[in-house]
Amino acid sequence: VDRLRLCFSELRVDVILVTHLPNIFYVTGFSGSAGLLLVEPENGLLLIDSRYTFQAREEVSGVRVQTVKHGLLRGAGEAISRVSRRGRVSVAYSPAQLTIAQKQTLDAATGGRARWVPANGLVEKLRAIKDADELSRMRQAADAISKTFCDVIPMIRPGVTELELAAEIEYRMKRLGASGPSFETIVASGARSAWAHARPTAKPLKKNELVVLDQGAILRAYCSDMTRTVFLGRTSEKVRRMYRAVLEAQEAAKNAIRSGVAAEAPDTAARHVLKKYGLSRFFTHSTGHGLGLEVHETPRLGKGERTKLEEGMVVTVEPGVYVEGFGGIRIEDDVVVTSTGAQDLTSAPRELLEL
Ligand code: ZN
Ligand code: ZN
Repeated sequence: VDRLRLCFSELRVDVILVTHLPNIFYVTGFSGSAGLLLVEPENGLLLIDSRYTFQAREEVSGVRVQTVKHGLLRGAGEAISRVSRRGRVSVAYSPAQLTIAQKQTLDAATGGRARWVPANGLVEKLRAIKDADELSRMRQAADAISKTFCDVIPMIRPGVTELELAAEIEYRMKRLGASGPSFETIVASGARSAWAHARPTAKPLKKNELVVLDQGAILRAYCSDMTRTVFLGRTSEKVRRMYRAVLEAQEAAKNAIRSGVAAEAPDTAARHVLKKYGLSRFFTHSTGHGLGLEVHETPRLGKGERTKLEEGMVVTVEPGVYVEGFGGIRIEDDVVVTSTGAQDLTSAPRELLEL
């Protein structure tokens, strides 16, 4: 809450309205599925409904909690109108995280007293840099997914379906303490492995196929996100070369990471390697993304990203090549940005596995 309050001097508003649940969790500790947070220079107020009264008592610190009866938006609008006895109340809010309908309801409940000041990414900016406690949670989430993948390797065989493998991965991560997957687990085999974000299907794995497995675990609220690509059978020279190119691109990207460099630097490094192999046109997404309470956070490691990497940021490094009708290869790790380089969090083997 105190760190968020530092924004007041720059913003010149009376209230900061926080609507995005991961941001509310970050600021207050509240993990419920509905709530609205108002932060003033001296006060903080979390509005919840009666389903969460007991839970909030247990979880929330640093702000007052109020259970509202007639809707959170109406409650928040009324609370905003009470901030000042007369005149307008300036409210910073995030347009990316409030629908037009929600804003209309809010505005009506303030009786037209609010002056809305768009301010995206205030809490996200704080969230981008992880403290020691957050890093230890993220290390645990990364360990859980690395171990899950290693445990599942013996099951990656011809005949098993993509869905069965995805189910096995999600079951095992929960046995290791994860509250759930960070995103719908991706298992994509054969030509489908060229779909960068394929959903697992009832398709059985076959001999001589590439299999992309992209998986992540949420542990103590923090996400991990790791991809490995394996081959069923003996690889051809073409597959080996593609794999070598992606692994080399990933290493180059990791080597380009340290605090102070622009977020596009690792992406440039990865593309440079793939270009050398004549594969850069098959690399169709950015090199990585921030990771934390959500699986996609700032910063994005991609073209044109001038934001500087800072110590304590956690990002994924995940170059890939995708050849339509043939297959895809992606290798993804989570790393912490330090002043001297990138420190790996995920640890499953990266060399090409022929199963
Ligand atoms: Zn991933
Ligand atoms: Zn990712």
